[in-house]
Amino acid sequence: MPEGDTIYRAARALQQAIGGKAVTGFETGLAKLARVNDDAPMVGRVVERVESRGKWCLIYFSGDLILVTHMLMSGSWHLYRAGERWRMGRSRMRVVIKTAEWEAVAFNVPIAEFHTARSLERSAQVPRLGPDILSAEFTVEGGVARLEAYAAKHPEAEIAVVLLNQRVLAGLGNVYKSEVAFAAGVNPFRAMRTITRREMEAMVDLAQRYMKANVADGKGEGIVTYAGNRRTTRAMDREERLWVYRRQGQECRRCGAAVMMRKQGEQARSSYWCPECQPWVGEGSGPVGRTA
Ligand SMILES: [Zn+2]
Repeated sequence: MPEGDTIYRAARALQQAIGGKAVTGFETGLAKLARVNDDAPMVGRVVERVESRGKWCLIYFSGDLILVTHMLMSGSWHLYRAGERWRMGRSRMRVVIKTAEWEAVAFNVPIAEFHTARSLERSAQVPRLGPDILSAEFTVEGGVARLEAYAAKHPEAEIAVVLLNQRVLAGLGNVYKSEVAFAAGVNPFRAMRTITRREMEAMVDLAQRYMKANVADGKGEGIVTYAGNRRTTRAMDREERLWVYRRQGQECRRCGAAVMMRKQGEQARSSYWCPECQPWVGEGSGPVGRTA
């Protein structure tokens, strides 16, 4: 699943390329969108802004129309100069937004729909999100307050599951979840009631710093992909770039113990951790994961 930072990066690239520009062409392979375009044409509208909310990308057009897309596993937004050859087949195209200079093309997006401000507000599908970690308004204190409020209501919830809950903090994905917990020395399976304020502060601060560091300063040139080169260790080598993610059985970069992996939560997302650097706090001896 694309990480929140790649959606943010895609939204920012789209904003820089087509934000404030008039729509000169619109195509879609999706009947529902085509019907809206027939009734209330997109051509002539202005792209007011593009924003990410967690894993959702929202493109606001003048005249109270919002195109909402979710990438899930397979979808992506690409940017091409007008007339430039696409790097994916036309059969995978779902939406094209053309401006004088750019073509923004959504490929394989499994969810794409139009909303008005009101219908978006009422939508159960596009959740009201917690503050986006990458937004200018986000603060560590604010993020900690949301974790504390959640812990008060759900004391038994496991921290790594909560870190992925987009209604608590929006934007953190499965890779950073494990990386942040490692760097803060917090075992991903610990119950919220065992997490100290200091640990929450460390995790929120790390989440913000990691995600900012991994948002490239591209100017919206060329192609937008989800092959983001995520780096959390300081090493430049690609192989050395993550602390624990997908490193089960390998030596912990800090202590040498074998990194573990275990599926976690209702969605069975993989969590990676070092049993030495992220000691268990709670009843019993704590969960054991695979090292192979
Ligand atoms: Zn370790």
